[in-house]
Order: sequence, then C-alpha cells, then structure tokens
Amino acid sequence: MTHQYDFLVIGSGIAGLSYATKLARHFESNGEPVSIAVITKVQADETNTKYAQGGIAAVWSKEDSFDKHIDDTIDAGDGVNKRHIVEIVVREAPERIQELIDYGTRFDRHGNEYDLAREGGHSDHRILHFKDITGAEIERALLEEVQRHPSISIFTHFFAVDLITQHHLGETVYRYREDIRCFGAYVLNTRTGQVEKFLAKTTMLATGGIGNIYQSTTNPTIATGDGIAMAYRAKGICDNLEFIQFHPTSLYQPGKKPSFLISEAVRGFGGILKNADGSTFMENYDPRLSLAPRDITARAIDSEMKRNGTDHVYLDVRDADYDRFLEHFPNITQHCLDIGIDVRRDMIPVVPAQHYLCGGIRVNEWGQTNIHFLYAAGECSCTGLHGANRLASNSLLEAVVFGHRAYLGTIENLKDAYIPDNVPDWDDSGTTHPEEQVLVTEMTRELNSIMSNYVGIVRTNRRLRRAYERVELLYREHEQLYRESKVSVPISELRNMINVSYLVIKMAMSRRENVGLHYNLDNIKA
Ligand SMILES: Cc1cc2nc3c(=O)[nH]c(=O)nc-3n(C[C@H](O)[C@H](O)[C@H](O)COP(=O)(O)OP(=O)(O)OC[C@H]3O[C@@H](n4cnc5c(N)ncnc54)[C@H](O)[C@@H]3O)c2cc1C
Repeated sequence: MTHQYDFLVIGSGIAGLSYATKLARHFESNGEPVSIAVITKVQADETNTKYAQGGIAAVWSKEDSFDKHIDDTIDAGDGVNKRHIVEIVVREAPERIQELIDYGTRFDRHGNEYDLAREGGHSDHRILHFKDITGAEIERALLEEVQRHPSISIFTHFFAVDLITQHHLGETVYRYREDIRCFGAYVLNTRTGQVEKFLAKTTMLATGGIGNIYQSTTNPTIATGDGIAMAYRAKGICDNLEFIQFHPTSLYQPGKKPSFLISEAVRGFGGILKNADGSTFMENYDPRLSLAPRDITARAIDSEMKRNGTDHVYLDVRDADYDRFLEHFPNITQHCLDIGIDVRRDMIPVVPAQHYLCGGIRVNEWGQTNIHFLYAAGECSCTGLHGANRLASNSLLEAVVFGHRAYLGTIENLKDAYIPDNVPDWDDSGTTHPEEQVLVTEMTRELNSIMSNYVGIVRTNRRLRRAYERVELLYREHEQLYRESKVSVPISELRNMINVSYLVIKMAMSRRENVGLHYNLDNIKA
C-alpha cells in the first residue's frame, strides 16, 4: 500500500506534534491545501514527553535574564555546547512556551504569576511546570491542538522501519555524498503486519531517545533509538552519542522497566541525598551538595554505592513541609505510597538510571540533517544546545524551539522538493516469520547487559573495547536473522538498538578527554 503526503512526521511527542501543528497552521491560515501524516509506533501519547515531570525551562521572571540561562546551559554542557544555538533556544523560549499556553497547556500558578521552580544547575527560578506531570499536560494539549487541524492524520501503531532515499532507486549512497534526498519511509502497519510506503516531500524524525539500550532507564519502552538508527543507515551524520545522561535519582525497584523517576525538583525542594546510615555524602563531591548537576550527582552516587557495596542510596524529604510536598509532587508521593514508602516517615531509595541522550542526528539551526528534505528535532537530534551534558528542563524546550525552526526551514526549502514515481514497494520475498522469538529476547538482554556494565556512568578503555567486540558479534548474528525474517517490531527495534549502541561505543572510544557526561578512568591516568 502506498500513502502520499506533503509531510511525514515520525513521532508524536513534543517535537513531532509541535512541528506538525506549525505546518498545519501555516497552510490552513493561507487557505492552501496540505496533508500531514504523523505516525507513531504505539498509541499517540506513549512518548517520553508524557513522562516528563519537572517542567520546561525559560526566562520568565524579571529577576532572571537570558544571559544567566545561557551561562547555566553552557556551564552544564562543559563548554561543548554551540553557543549560537544556546542563544537561539534561550531567547526563543518564552515565545514558544506562550504558544504551548495558547494551545491550552496549563502551568501551575501562584495568583497571577507562574510558579517557577528551580532545579539542579539553574541559577534562578525558571522552570514552568504542571504539578509533577508537566510532560503529560503538554502532550495532552498538543494532541488536542492536532485534533483541531483536519490536515493532520495520525497513524497509531505504525512503525517506521527505514527511510527512503536514492538507495531505494538503485543508486549508490555513501555517507558524505552531498545530494542524498529523503522521500519518506517504509512503515510497518503493526496491525496487518504489512510494510507500507509513506512517500512525502519532507520527512521529520522526532523519534525520541535510546534508553532501552540499557538495563535501567526512565524512558518508556518506545525509546529504542529508531530515528537515529534509520538516519545512520540512510547515511545521516550523528554527533555526541557518548554523552548519555543518567538520572541520579530513579526509584530503586529492581527489574522494573521503565524506572520511576524521582524528579530533580525534589532535590530543588530540599530533598537530601543520604547513605543507608543517614549520613550525607554530597559534601565530598561538590559544593552545591544535593543541587549539584546530574552528572556529578550520578557519579557521586555510583561511587558511594561501590564504596559501601550497596545497590542504592536514599533521598530524604522527611523534613519537608508535607502539605506543600504533596501539592508539588502528588504523583511521586502516591507512587511511593503504592510500594509502601511514606515520604513523611521513610527515606526514598534511589539509584541512577539512563535518562537522556544529549547527542543524536546532526542538524543545523533549522533542524535540517545532512540528508536533504530530512529534518530531526527533539531528543533524537543533536543541535549543539546541550553540549556534553543537558541542563535540567532544557530538553522539552529544545524540542519545541526546534519543532518551530524546522517548520520554518521546511517552508523555506519546499519549492525544491519532489516525490519520485519509481520508489519500489517493500520487498520481503524469501523471508519467513522467525520461529524462535527467544533469540531476539536473549540478544536484547545481552545488549542491555553489555551497555550497562561497560558503557555506563564510569567507563574504561578495556570495558569499551569489550563492549565494542561483543556488540559487533551481536550485530553480525542479528543481521543474519534480519535478512531471513519478515520484519517485526522486536526484530527492528533490536536492529536499531544494536546500531545505536555501536555508535555510542565508537564515539565513547574516540573521546580522549573527560568532559561532561563522558567519564573514562583511563583518561584521568593518561
Ligand atoms: C521520566 C522522564 C522525565 C523527564 N522529565 C523532563 C523534564 O522535566 N523536563 C524536560 O525538559 N525533559 C524531561 N525529560 C526528557 C523529555 O521528556 C524528552 O527529551 C522529550 O519529551 C523528547 O521528546 P521527543 O518529541 O523528542 O520524543 P518523544 O516524546 O519520546 O516521542 C517519540 C515519538 O516517536 C515515536 N517513534 C519512535 N520510534 C518510532 C518508529 N520507529 N516508528 C514510529 N514512531 C516512532 C514514538 O512512538 C513517540 O511517538 C524527561 C524524560 C523522562 C523519560
């Protein structure tokens, strides 16, 4: 089956929906016909966006300034950030957030003023939030806004398998060829099992993060790096994949996926990190104590756990004003209660878990990748905003700013776009349904273990080399299986996770200095 749209958007989180909405508004307000397909691999709201708790950062109060937000972002990013991108994002933030409000997003208020929270690494109060479910509120408002635009069609349970480029027209496409073009994607309709062709003048990758390459992650199961892997296979260029953020405080619940996040804002609210015996330890690592940036805090916890032989530490909020705590963190309070932790009496057991990818598909300031008519925004992209480490609450912001900028870039370049009429249908002749699903399950488990043990918070050259060799072996085994099999979501996701893990390891191996989130013990000795 062939679908033809003006625009194909892969992903229904904040990045994809912001972009689709902007395009729809643009054409509808000009009275021009337009067709936009948004595809999403499960239900529309099952996104990383929905799980965001803390909020979205912007300079909103008179006491704050763009310069302070810019400095904080670059400070957190260890100077690896692209300064002009940081300036763009910080300065455009209030306008984009006002648009979210106009779409119907609610943020908490004190009277007429927004209640601005302060999180680790921020020098001022600038986090707009809705209780501790900010992401769910933004996702709700954006999905409602999308419903108001008849030009947008949402395809749920459609899984993008591969991007369509000249390669599918029989040409040789190599990575640094300058005229690679994207014409859409092959997409698996997961209800029928058929791969359908989605042709489009412009394609947007807004596929989110990669958390599930690790054993513990706060990301939902959709986060398997599909967009990055698809772009890389289509000869897209990726950057900074070694910079993986581990959230210092996910709730300690062994075997639970995704890990439940105890928001950064809890530390901003006065939560104190402690060992089991009630002793504090952050004073040994950073003068900002429990408000230190995430990478320092995660390494400190990792080090305390190794030193004490424990598998978690604690976050203590027992001295906090309970009523105010409950008002700010109803979801966290309830979640803890559900597993028998009463935050008035008990310390919360916490452990670091993979949380966010700072790198991704390289894009310019208009969200364009090196492949013509292929854009990327949100967590799967690398704009240069975060540098070597993301400042808390800057990721929803980046996604909404770049959803907008990619829309401007798309409109600007549209006149040269076309859809060829000779794109072949998906060819799966000679393949069968694999009889042994256990192979995929086991390979995924193996990959998770390799990445968590060797490519986690603290790395060494030997661990990285080991990871590289093992992932290469997995790659070869999986390619064989993939070639012989009818395409399915588990097989494709594993293929993508192997591709992305390979990139993470390669980039970690070639980074010779410790900067931001990349921490290799051998770089200290060298
Ligand atoms: C627990 C948690 C808390 C967080 N808290 C904050 C916070 O307070 N502030 C902040 O700024 N950031 C926060 N983040 C990070 C932030 O939520 C994400 O970076 C952001 O939401 C990513 O948005 P996105 O649009 O790029 O991707 P997502 O929201 O993850 O959307 C990805 C979309 O792509 C689709 N997709 C993926 N692969 C395919 C495929 N192959 N085919 C079809 N569709 C596909 C998915 O179905 C989904 O619709 C948090 C993240 C987590 C997990």
